[in-house]
Amino acid sequence: MSLNDQWMQRDLAVLWHPCTQMKDHESMPLIPVERGEGVWLYDFDGNRYIDAVSSWWVNIFGHANPYINQRIKDQLDKLEHVILAGFSHPPVIELSEKLVAMTPAPLTRCFYADNGSSCIEVALKMSFHYWLNVGKPEKKRFITLSNSYHGETLAALAVGDVSLYKSTYEPLLMDVITVPSPDCYEREAGMDWEAHSRLMFEHMERALAENHEQVAAVIVEPLIQCAGGMRMYHPVYLKLLREACDRYGVHLIHDEIAVGFGRTGSMFACDQADISPDFLCLSKALTAGYLPMAVCLTNDTIYQAFYDDYDTLRAFLHSHSYTGNPLACAAALATLELFERDQVIERNLALSAHMAKATEHFIDHPHVADVRQTGMVLAIEMVKNKANRTPYPWQERRGIRVYEHALKNEAMLRPLGSVVYMMPPYVITPDQIDHLASVAWEGIQLATRD
Ligand SMILES: *Cc1c(COP(=O)(O)O)cnc(C)c1O
Repeated sequence: MSLNDQWMQRDLAVLWHPCTQMKDHESMPLIPVERGEGVWLYDFDGNRYIDAVSSWWVNIFGHANPYINQRIKDQLDKLEHVILAGFSHPPVIELSEKLVAMTPAPLTRCFYADNGSSCIEVALKMSFHYWLNVGKPEKKRFITLSNSYHGETLAALAVGDVSLYKSTYEPLLMDVITVPSPDCYEREAGMDWEAHSRLMFEHMERALAENHEQVAAVIVEPLIQCAGGMRMYHPVYLKLLREACDRYGVHLIHDEIAVGFGRTGSMFACDQADISPDFLCLSKALTAGYLPMAVCLTNDTIYQAFYDDYDTLRAFLHSHSYTGNPLACAAALATLELFERDQVIERNLALSAHMAKATEHFIDHPHVADVRQTGMVLAIEMVKNKANRTPYPWQERRGIRVYEHALKNEAMLRPLGSVVYMMPPYVITPDQIDHLASVAWEGIQLATRD
C-alpha cells in the first residue's frame, strides 16, 4: 500500500471532514499532505499540486513562508497565549493600531474572534445591542442579499442564502429579509455591470423603505459572493447602499472575510467604493492562512453606546477563548509587513492581468457561459446550454470532473458546483497561472464532453 493510501485509511477510520459527504471517499481519493512550499502542496507519494484555491481562500503568501514562519517562531518563545480580558500584549496592540490605520477613517476599534463565522456573530450582536443601548429595541432584523454566504454557525447561516448549506437547518434559523443580489451574471445582454448593479439596488431601497424601523443592519459580501459561486457586482452598489443605510438609520456590515487583503485588487473591497461600513469583518487572509483569527472593526459611535458604568449592563459581554491569540497576531503582523515590503497590491495588478489573458479564450468554449474576474479572483461558469444559460443539473457534479483531472496534473482546482475558479496565493508566477489555465481548459473539455 502506498504511503498516501496508508494515511488515507487511518484518516478515514477516525475523521469526519468539513463540507464533505464522507461516502465520496469510497471513490475519490483523500490527499494526505506531507508538506507545503510556496504555491505547492506535496503528498506522500511524490505528487505535487498548485494550491489554486489558496486552501479555502486563506493563503496569500504561500505555504511555509520563511518570513512569516520566523515571526511566529520568535513570538512562540515569548508568549503563546494569554487571556485578553484584563490582560493584553504587544502583538495584539500593534496589530490593532495597524488595522485601524489601514482601514477607512471612522473605523477605530478592533474586536477579535477566532474564526470568520464567530466574527459575523459579533457584528450581528453588536449591531442589535447598539440599537438596544440607544433605546431602539425594535431594530432587531437583518437584511441580506440572495446567494450570500456568511459562515456556518446558526446566526451566520441565517443571514446567508446558499441553500445547499442552509435549507436543512432552516427550522433552527432566525428570520431575515432577503433582497435580490446585484450579481452581474444575471444582467440582461448588453447591459454593463454598473448599470445592472444600480438597477438591482431598487430592491434594496424598497426593502429599507418598508422595514428600516425594524432593521438593525444590512450585511453584504462586498463585490464578490464567493461561496455563492464567485458571483460579482459593481462597487456602485456599495456606494448606494452606504448612502441609503445612512438615510434610513441602519448599520452596514461588510463581510470581507474572503475578499479582504487584496483579493478584489484593492486592499479592502470597500476601498473601491470609497466608503466605510459600520462593521468590517476580516479573517482568512488576515494571518496569510497560518492561524485562525478574525476581527470585527467598528467606529466610535458604536463603541460609545456600550461605554458606561458597569451596573448599567451595557457592555458587550461576548468572548472566545482564543481571542487575540499572540501567535495569530504575530502571523498577521508579518502578513501586513509583507504587503508593504513587497508592494503586493501593485504587483498583483500584473498577475491579475495575466490571469485574464491566460483564460481569455475560455469564453469561446461551447459550455462556458461566463468568465468573470475581480482582481485576483477569476471564475469560469460551465453551463449545459450556453444560448439560454441553462445550468447543468447539480446532480451531475461536472465541476468534480475538472477537479479530478486537475489533481492528475499538478493542480488543486476545487470547484463550486459548475464554477471553476482560481483564487491563488499572490506568490504564484505567470507560468504557474498558465499551467492552471491549461489544466482548467482540458478539465472543462472532459467535464462537458457528454
Ligand atoms: C469563509 C467565510 C466566512 C466564515 O468564516 P469561517 O472562518 O469559515 O467560519 C464568512 N463569510 C465569508 C464571506 C466567508 O467566505
